[in-house]
Amino acid sequence: MLIRLEPDAETAAVQGRLKALGLWFTPLADAAGRVCALRIDPPSPPIDPGRLRRLPGVAEVLVGASPHPRVDAQAGRVVTVRRAAFGGPAPVLIAGPCSVDAPDTVMAAAEAAAAAGATALRGGAFKPRTSPYSFDGHGVEALGWMRTAADRHGLAVITEVLSERDVERVAAHADVLQIGSRNMQNFALLRAAGAARVPCLLKRGMAATVEEWLLAGEHLLAHGAAAVIFCERGVRGFDPATRNLLDLAAVALLAHVHRQPVIADPSHATGRRDLIEPLALAARAAGAAGVMVEMHPDPARARSDAAQAIDRATLRRIGAGLGLVDAHEEAA
Ligand code: PEP
Ligand code: MN
Repeated sequence: MLIRLEPDAETAAVQGRLKALGLWFTPLADAAGRVCALRIDPPSPPIDPGRLRRLPGVAEVLVGASPHPRVDAQAGRVVTVRRAAFGGPAPVLIAGPCSVDAPDTVMAAAEAAAAAGATALRGGAFKPRTSPYSFDGHGVEALGWMRTAADRHGLAVITEVLSERDVERVAAHADVLQIGSRNMQNFALLRAAGAARVPCLLKRGMAATVEEWLLAGEHLLAHGAAAVIFCERGVRGFDPATRNLLDLAAVALLAHVHRQPVIADPSHATGRRDLIEPLALAARAAGAAGVMVEMHPDPARARSDAAQAIDRATLRRIGAGLGLVDAHEEAA
């Protein structure tokens, strides 16, 4: 239930009345920081909405109101990051290595990305790794290599922030903070990333429901994120034939029903380079505002996720399939 307040409501008085009724609530502020609504939270006892409607200062009571009003307010919005417009007429292609392994490879990846019509460079500087013995990124140094490469080719930088301690350092180099699948419900990280007030790319947890994903987006927005771009990267399936199960129904649901900026990551969804191109196109057909793919100038030498790294030619074909570049023109 959501109580919308009159513009001149005595907020403290209304809150006092709700407390007296034994209700739990969360004040919601508008863009100017003024409390404009109070959301009644689950531990509250049942209450007749008519009783709340009669309280002085209450403009309306919305029964069954959405638990993620800030996400809902994003509906239909085009999220623009440098030249990338998520939700605009053209899909956004984001490409780059799984991990930023060296300055020259990220530079070559940025060049290939731009030539394929991408407007954003991805790459991990801080990598979440299942094994503590795997390469976990070059950290801050790699952020600098990425920024230099992206600037050379007019691309936005999208990179993961693993810990709330790193938010400032990552935000100093990146245009979009990526929250990884393993951290979708790391609420301390969501709070810190939101507070950076930049757009965030929120990957779906590998076992998260759509509602949990939307609520994680609500956390980011509630703490100040400029926008949330949702990214479907596959959920755990029963079949090891592919790394994960790309949930295109969830992409369609977010795109067409919730009208959210949502993209797909067929790389982590499939784990196989031969499936990236068809699923990138399928995701666009399902309503994705873009796709994020892992590419490496020399895929076999990628230091992480080599099996899913595509080469420059495949990336170029994906760009052409998405209508971003001419299929027949020679790559620049
Ligand atoms: C990534 O995109 O670099 C990544 C680690 O993906 P995910 O969080 O979806 O596993
Ligand atoms: Mn990867």
